Amino acid sequence: MSDRINVMMPWLGREEEEALAEVIASGWVAQGPRVARFEREFASAVRSRYAVATTSCTTALHLALIVAGIREGDHVVIPSFSFIATTNAVRYVGAHPVFADVDPVTGNVTGDTVAAALTPRTRAVIAVDQGGVPVDLDDVRAVADPAGIVVIEDAACGAGSTLRGCPVGAGAEIAAWSFHPRKLLTTGEGGMLTTNHQSWAVRAAHLREHGMSVSAAERHASALPPAETYDEVGYNFRMTDLQAAVGIVQLGRLPEMVARRRRIAARYQAAVDGVHGLRAVTDPPHGTTNYQSFWVEVDDEYPTDREGLLEALAVADISARRGIMAAHRQAPYRHLTPPEGLPATERLTDRTLILPMFHHLSDANQDRVIDVLRDPVGGRR
Ligand SMILES: *Cc1c(COP(=O)(O)O)cnc(C)c1O
Repeated sequence: MSDRINVMMPWLGREEEEALAEVIASGWVAQGPRVARFEREFASAVRSRYAVATTSCTTALHLALIVAGIREGDHVVIPSFSFIATTNAVRYVGAHPVFADVDPVTGNVTGDTVAAALTPRTRAVIAVDQGGVPVDLDDVRAVADPAGIVVIEDAACGAGSTLRGCPVGAGAEIAAWSFHPRKLLTTGEGGMLTTNHQSWAVRAAHLREHGMSVSAAERHASALPPAETYDEVGYNFRMTDLQAAVGIVQLGRLPEMVARRRRIAARYQAAVDGVHGLRAVTDPPHGTTNYQSFWVEVDDEYPTDREGLLEALAVADISARRGIMAAHRQAPYRHLTPPEGLPATERLTDRTLILPMFHHLSDANQDRVIDVLRDPVGGRR
């Protein structure tokens, strides 16, 4: 009998517990000073001018589309090869998702795949750092910028990844981040919008708080509270100080999280190198990944297919996951499948498998995974 190996586990410790206890003792648990501090520190870490904390990456994407001026009927080019939230956010503003295919190696859109999906009504592109692999934003912007199309970076998975030596998101007009436990840095649920446009940041902060002219924090700080007005239809997308306190600690751990994951990835890559028919995710030429997801692609020369490998891992008490989903295969978006299909997307979604990857994965347990990768049929002979 062996212990079950999870596919992921967040890295949370005593420091997070202590930070939470401090917030509770302070009596200020909703959006307040810790959210403001988390925003400042996050903006500085990803080298963006402004950061606005939200309840999730999904709500950050929703706000990003609004402040970038995307409205009903506009076309937004996005990869189908992404978590469904990327596509859903486009629908929240009444815009029309247009699916672009991805590079078969990185799983990300490129300037060419975006160019092929442009229409006369394209007003925005959402470029995703899928699984942490940095999208080549410069290549995408070289196509979009001259046409006046805004590029929003879905950096949900990207904290700690780099593009040409800079943190991902640094080169984006606007980016959205996730702090769900499935990503590296977690606040339970939570998200962030970063941008270099002051007016976009101000409006996003306004919209996340019901469109109120005076923030709750400002009201609290003044003895004679100013009368607030509500200038447009807003939302409640506020992060809590409880979440932000955890986020501040987690942000401090980020470099160590990335370093550890890159060491685990290097061990997997060295092992998979000698296995016929398996290809492991790796750094693209233009940057480095945080390995938010470590995936392998199962080719025809491998002794079994993706489902067979998933089963072999399950028999060995190892959790794995089928690779990234394809939104165009889900009921609400099937009718948006382009006539020429999305061959690279379909190949990756059908043939990739996400392996265990988390901070405290031991070498011994990783070796159990590697043993199955090397001999997927042996365990059942
Ligand atoms: C996880 C994820 C999201 C959604 O993030 P939430 O914080 O859960 O809303 C969006 N886009 C991508 C690419 C993701 O991986």
